[in-house]
Amino acid sequence: MNVFDSLIGQEQAVAEMKHAAIDAAKLSMGERGDAMTHAWLITGPPGSGRSTLALAFAASLVCSNGGCGECIDCRNVTAGLHPDVEHIVPEGINYKVEATRNLIERASLLPTRSPWHVIVVEDVDRFRIDAASTLLKTLEEPPPQTVWLLCAPTVDDVFPTIRSRCRHVMLTSPTLPAIAAQLTSRFGIDPAMAAFAARTAQGHIGRARAIATDEGVRLRRKQTLDIPTSLRSVSSCFELANNIVTSANADADSIVDPLDESDDQDIRTAFGEGAEGKGLKTVERQMKSALKDLDDRAKSRRRRVLMDQYDRVLLDLTGYYRDVLVVQSGASVDLVNEEFREAITRVASVDDEAATLRRIGAITEARDQIVANVNPLNAFESLFVSLRDPRLTAIVG
Ligand SMILES: [Zn+2]
Repeated sequence: MNVFDSLIGQEQAVAEMKHAAIDAAKLSMGERGDAMTHAWLITGPPGSGRSTLALAFAASLVCSNGGCGECIDCRNVTAGLHPDVEHIVPEGINYKVEATRNLIERASLLPTRSPWHVIVVEDVDRFRIDAASTLLKTLEEPPPQTVWLLCAPTVDDVFPTIRSRCRHVMLTSPTLPAIAAQLTSRFGIDPAMAAFAARTAQGHIGRARAIATDEGVRLRRKQTLDIPTSLRSVSSCFELANNIVTSANADADSIVDPLDESDDQDIRTAFGEGAEGKGLKTVERQMKSALKDLDDRAKSRRRRVLMDQYDRVLLDLTGYYRDVLVVQSGASVDLVNEEFREAITRVASVDDEAATLRRIGAITEARDQIVANVNPLNAFESLFVSLRDPRLTAIVG
């Protein structure tokens, strides 16, 4: 087993990173190692495995066995607990300058138990110019033991000044058969289910696995895909929008809260809550600041979980109307939602391609609004009102 095993259909990128890890080991023994460098930019479409590749490379740098996947170093990287590997996601929509400065300060520290201090930064496209120029300085003169692994959807999403200082590794969208084969071989999923999950997840590996293994995910997907034929009246638009926001919040509660409670307890225990003696005031102050920090992170984590839920709904709806467009145009390509063909054909029959394109545009607009902090309930309400077609109601009754 090796940490790179979970990457699907990315042979070239994996070979390059393995080679770099071998040269990194040479460098740390004072030899030459040209395949290794201090700043990497990993790009690839959502779900292609950008962060999986970055974390696998991180593990192969801190593992004394090239990323065996089994030692304590490898397991700690996977669990997000390795002291020499930091995995950074933006707090909120964009990276903040101050958080970036703190990150760079931490990045300059020497590693504690490995030859390298690795910083994995997700969503580099969310650096605005001020935070990006802060990051740029350290990429120009990186401390010798520090390695930056920057992840973004495409090269064009990254400031030219940043990307010119990185070695670029590009992931491609894995093919549907490759995803299905992986679901079967790694997770023992029945081939028919694996093929279904790969197709409906539209190339997103994590989503394909969730669809294949979690009945709740399949059920919610079905509920989403029933929406276009359920928008009978304006009041049903409001009700369905409310259902989505309510269930997204319930999901966010169940995912975020249990984690927070245990973090909270960890901090209280670490600061020895309830202890007595000298220096107690300082400790108390530090604990308060750590708890405040925890609270900020919990809020940001919650926003991300909610955004993921909304994205999933919007992505499923986009796939649905893409299928409507396929039927309307008479193209002979597979539908993403083959099992909804009958409903999709009905929706396609009441309107034309231009109207479908407008609906797809409305979905994109709803996403932009939610990202720009418009109340998600309002965004979904106006989306559903613009998706609704009264002529469809006449057919489906
Ligand atoms: Zn290992």
